[in-house]
Amino acid sequence: MSFTDYKLHSTITAGITSCGYTTPTPIQKEAIPSILEGRDILGLAQTGTGKTAAFVLPLLQRLLAGPRKKVRALIVAPTRELAEQIHKNIGQMAQHTGLRSVVLYGGVGKQPQIKGIRSGAEIVVACPGRLLDLLNEKVFNLRAVEVLVLDEADHMFDKGFLPDIRRIIKQSPRKRQTLVFSATMPKEIRHLAEDILHNPITVQINHTLPAPSISHLLYQISKTKKTALLKNLLTEKEMASTLVFTRTKHKAKSLALQLQKSGFSATAIQGNLCQSKRQLAMDGFRNGTFKILVATDIAARGIDVSGISHVINYDMPDTAETYTHRTGRTGRASRSGQAFSFADHEDSKMIALIERNLGKQMAREAVPEAVNNFKPTKPVGNRNTFSKNSKNDTTRSKKSASAPRPKKQRSKASSFDFGLGRRD
Ligand code: AMP
Repeated sequence: MSFTDYKLHSTITAGITSCGYTTPTPIQKEAIPSILEGRDILGLAQTGTGKTAAFVLPLLQRLLAGPRKKVRALIVAPTRELAEQIHKNIGQMAQHTGLRSVVLYGGVGKQPQIKGIRSGAEIVVACPGRLLDLLNEKVFNLRAVEVLVLDEADHMFDKGFLPDIRRIIKQSPRKRQTLVFSATMPKEIRHLAEDILHNPITVQINHTLPAPSISHLLYQISKTKKTALLKNLLTEKEMASTLVFTRTKHKAKSLALQLQKSGFSATAIQGNLCQSKRQLAMDGFRNGTFKILVATDIAARGIDVSGISHVINYDMPDTAETYTHRTGRTGRASRSGQAFSFADHEDSKMIALIERNLGKQMAREAVPEAVNNFKPTKPVGNRNTFSKNSKNDTTRSKKSASAPRPKKQRSKASSFDFGLGRRD
């Protein structure tokens, strides 16, 4: 099976070649023929399966046939990162077609986005809030939309976007093709799908199973020793590119700072960052300037960085599905990857759920002796590096950003390295 079997327009095939795709992935094989026939689709696909190309390629084929300079396709995504990524992916696949896309999300100025629409984009990729703003301000309308795509619908529901989605759907023509993609199928999404899809084909690719190319390792470790274990693994194992997940924004920020201070090439992405800083962190991680990205779940949704070799759950996720999403950031498009999870006794229920979902046990790894013997330093006021209190973390990082650490503090910090050495 190759892309030529779909008889796509030669300009699209040229785009596929520039992307370096040779064989369609399973979701592409399943979805592309039905979308080309004009059918509605409910796609249940795990992360990293190639679902963007699965809907973009037939979309481009359809748009090539009709009028230009009208918004004829609308793709709605829950996060700026995912919207940006879809837009970039379209840019690659559509580069020889003359079709244009524009991306709309909040947190940045409206004017360039308005200019993009007015200059005649045929495809709009948008987050719900900014899209509704621009529609309400009558910058453009959805009257010419032929294809509507809702990507990561379960995540839109998690973020409380479903009322916005229904408002957006109301403004688009009843006669249209609708494609809904979701990694999981909570009942709210099933109801939405039943309401908006017409006689859909369901395409399901192992939707709750993490990609088989990932190995799953579990470290049972107390909270106070997690940072020590992280530094040990980053030093001892060969990790080309590592994504570390924390539960809170504050922890993401403070952990990245701690890693930087120990000489690791780390940055953080979390919801409190403005869009330009998020982009800088993402770009730096993508181009290898930073080897380690510390992130929260919300910020990490939609991150598609090829070649992430390791995902580390510094804090365990809240659901088994989130575990799938996180670990799906490695092992993408059939590459192999490793997922390390740090868990203490409070996480045992979640481990059981994840293992049920995986259909197997995670490999139990012994905690290195150096980490086991490590004694966390006693808290010093609110400057405790191993603080459980996220507020303390922020206080410390704010202070450390503006003032050099006092000598006493510096010597304590170096004790956390316990001779692991430094790495750039
Ligand atoms: P997605 O699930 O759309 O985020 O895609 C995951 C990754 O797979 C992205 O880096 C895509 O560029 C890549 N990809 C998509 N389709 C193919 C394909 N047919 N062959 C190889 N890589 C692909």
